[in-house]
Amino acid sequence: MNRFSLTVLGTRGSVTVSGKEYERFGGMTSCYLVRAGDQVLFLDAGAGIIHAPEMEESEPAILISHLHLDHLVGLGMYPRLSKKGRCTKIYLPAKDDDNALAELDSLYSPPYWPCSLTDYSGTLEVHALNLPMKIGEVTVEGMKGNHPGGSIVMKLSYEGKSIVYATDYEYERISFERLKEFAKDCDLLLYDAQYTEEEYERKKGFGHSTAEKGIELMNSCGAKRMLLVHHDPQSKDGELDRRELLLPVPNVHYARENEEILL
Ligand SMILES: [Zn+2]
Ligand SMILES: [Zn+2]
Repeated sequence: MNRFSLTVLGTRGSVTVSGKEYERFGGMTSCYLVRAGDQVLFLDAGAGIIHAPEMEESEPAILISHLHLDHLVGLGMYPRLSKKGRCTKIYLPAKDDDNALAELDSLYSPPYWPCSLTDYSGTLEVHALNLPMKIGEVTVEGMKGNHPGGSIVMKLSYEGKSIVYATDYEYERISFERLKEFAKDCDLLLYDAQYTEEEYERKKGFGHSTAEKGIELMNSCGAKRMLLVHHDPQSKDGELDRRELLLPVPNVHYARENEEILL
């Protein structure tokens, strides 16, 4: 059995935070490193990607769930992009490859950034995220999430196991039913739990969800394990500890930066 694992590089939503109150759960925005045998994939390229380990032997594929800044903000400082002879592939939601490059350039170009990411010393191949597709031995499937401007919920399957990444998703009945089917029997579910139920009442329409909805999803889809992700910048370590203690089921916790889960 080859290795299939997920390492949390960044789990914060919306914007990075720092300070001793954020040391344990972390302050970098969304980025997860998946290793499937020799294949390396990233889920999103938030600030966490700048701490990705050097993986010279592999050719990483970066899969972007949607174009909000917190999911792309680390890309410009991802060290591999500046290394001559290294190739990285990025897939983002767009009509075709030309549009994908135009989307990326709309963020990474003057006056917002000194140059295009394709001008760096390394090679960056920019593709549209057309799902389903196969990257190495990993099958990637997607479904539309419920989020302002849209988001893609992704499923990565490898050697009979699967990871479902449902970030920047707000509960809504019809898509939630689809999500139950999409995530059926997955081994690891990442679910957006930015808000408490009480906070959610004031944040309807912001595109995020709660731990309670994640647990409802987990119970009905049969996910074996769940990581709650996209922590609000206001939620300090003590607050996430408090929420974690209240979780009514095992095999669920709030994601911590640098933790690794082996599937
Ligand atoms: Zn986000
Ligand atoms: Zn978003």
